[in-house]
Amino acid sequence: MGYVQRVIEECEAKFPHQVYFLQALKEIFESLKPEIDRNPSYEKNAILERLVVPERSIAFRVPWIDDEGRARVNQGYRIEFNSALGPYKGGLRFHPSVNEDVIKFLGFEQILKNSLTTLNMGGGKGGSDFDPKGKSENEIMRFCQSFMSELYRHIGDRTDVPAGDIGVGGREVGYMFGQYKRLSNRFDGVLTGKGLKWGGSLVRKEATGYGSVYFAQAMLEARGESLEGKICCVSGSGNVAIYTIEKLYALGAKPVTASDSRGMIYDAEGIDLALLKEIKENRRESLQAYAQEKKSAIYTPVSEYPQGRNQVWSIPCFAAFPSATQNELNLADAQELLKNGCQCVSEGANMPCTLEATNLFVDSKICYGPAKAANAGGVATSGLEMAQNASMSIWSFEEVDAKLLKIMRGIFAHAQETAKEFGQEQNLVLGANIAGFRKVAMAMIEQGVV
Ligand code: GLU
Repeated sequence: MGYVQRVIEECEAKFPHQVYFLQALKEIFESLKPEIDRNPSYEKNAILERLVVPERSIAFRVPWIDDEGRARVNQGYRIEFNSALGPYKGGLRFHPSVNEDVIKFLGFEQILKNSLTTLNMGGGKGGSDFDPKGKSENEIMRFCQSFMSELYRHIGDRTDVPAGDIGVGGREVGYMFGQYKRLSNRFDGVLTGKGLKWGGSLVRKEATGYGSVYFAQAMLEARGESLEGKICCVSGSGNVAIYTIEKLYALGAKPVTASDSRGMIYDAEGIDLALLKEIKENRRESLQAYAQEKKSAIYTPVSEYPQGRNQVWSIPCFAAFPSATQNELNLADAQELLKNGCQCVSEGANMPCTLEATNLFVDSKICYGPAKAANAGGVATSGLEMAQNASMSIWSFEEVDAKLLKIMRGIFAHAQETAKEFGQEQNLVLGANIAGFRKVAMAMIEQGVV
């Protein structure tokens, strides 16, 4: 049995219930095979066995008091996965679906994603099964403070730098930063995605969405194509989706969909970005409100999704931007997108396509940008926030945006070149995985068995 297969099977036997982690692991390891076969030093140094075990996993209790005065408890996590390339870096997710498996898959992806950015960042991820939906401002603040009361002892601007992810935006980062500062008596760049007046970076909020569109643009340009005048389908309605839509408009495309946990909207006139921002960023309401206010929009609730499939993927489009969550796009969705002529998929969310959908997109040879490459703009801009904090400087919007664009184009070129080395120029899954892995593996070998 080959080295890669052996480590996959060992992980399947050891973590049979960690389905997301095993899915991410298989996608990555399968594509590493040709690289691993060429280099016996990876096996000699047990690189794969070391890569799959986090350097440190912290699981902790998060007690808090709700508005009725009742004591509540959630589970908190921080997985410090790999620090070969720099301090652990990666977001915090607050969502009821969070468990060790989810955080582990996200942390594992983050190692290679951060490597691709070219910045010195290791991989980590954390979060809680706390559901911010329906909670009051005070409840959110108390929860964030309690979460940080444990986390603060594990993080630091040269140790581990958390940020946002699903359910964690500027508001939550603010409350966590306040508590960190109070407990540690230090004003450090210990979190990214901070408020713009106290150490945050311009473009950080927009970065994942903008980056995913820049990545799509780079993939298309390489084939003499562009997004101009094209119909695009976007799922989700959080930070990533909203700024994907904003950048698509800036490039002359027409985004026509968005979705949330309750349903999706199809607006053939093009999504009204100002209305979407008002509903999601200010009023924090469901997308149903959008359809009530904009008559051209059709709203389909989740209860009416045929076979539970998000109807976003049934709308004919040139390019698709899955920007909601893991496994939101399955094989049937991928088949429907291709049948309707979709030419480009750029993943704004983490692992939004199932393994079968990913394989179909790769085989179809359309432009397919896997998450760890296409959505790396968020964490890359977090890296730029760290650089500004460390040098006590503030860069303009244009400066950060130009760096983001350069990084995204660089990731595309690097993934494509690497794929080309293996005679599979179009396969950016292979290219991104190998390119990201090589740097981490080399650093691990040079740093010895630690
Ligand atoms: N949560 C984002 C991601 O999945 C960003 C992480 C960060 O900025 O550290 O990459």
